[in-house]
Amino acid sequence: MPRSLTGEHYHYYGICSTKLWYHHHRILYAQENEFVKLGKILSETAYSRDDNVAVGTSKFDLIRHPDEQTIEISEIKRSSTYQEADRLQLLHYLSLLAEAQSNGSDRELIGKLRYPRENTVVTIKWTDKTAVEYEEATAEILSAVSDECPSPERIPACRKCSMREFCFA
Ligand code: SF4
Repeated sequence: MPRSLTGEHYHYYGICSTKLWYHHHRILYAQENEFVKLGKILSETAYSRDDNVAVGTSKFDLIRHPDEQTIEISEIKRSSTYQEADRLQLLHYLSLLAEAQSNGSDRELIGKLRYPRENTVVTIKWTDKTAVEYEEATAEILSAVSDECPSPERIPACRKCSMREFCFA
């Protein structure tokens, strides 16, 4: 039985299936290279936080209640290079919120990808359409991690990947 999927599963799924597999099978260690450290520093300093929230193993960067009808969460990133992967990660967090409120309120759920270095914010709403997209990604992730480890292929993401030496030693 696969362990619970995390935001990282969705992020890695959007970047590299080998990295996704490493993560799921606990081969991907938290080898904090300079890029990861920089991202953490940025997320800690770029915004003053209204609140932090953890659901299961997931922790959102920032959560706001702009009005009574809306819950807004944010994911703060260093750059928009992997925006599609960022988007899938945020969809996962939105799905957790949707599940959490399925027996209670039906407030609109909005996710924001924030790229403070680029002065950019991308808004994603949790809708029937994004829910289907999320379900499809989930099915593909579960299939990928239950299969053999995909052979590493050199892609642009390898340049900044902490698993570079592991893949191409
Ligand atoms: S080094 Fe490249 S192929 Fe290997 S896990 Fe990282 S991104 Fe994937």
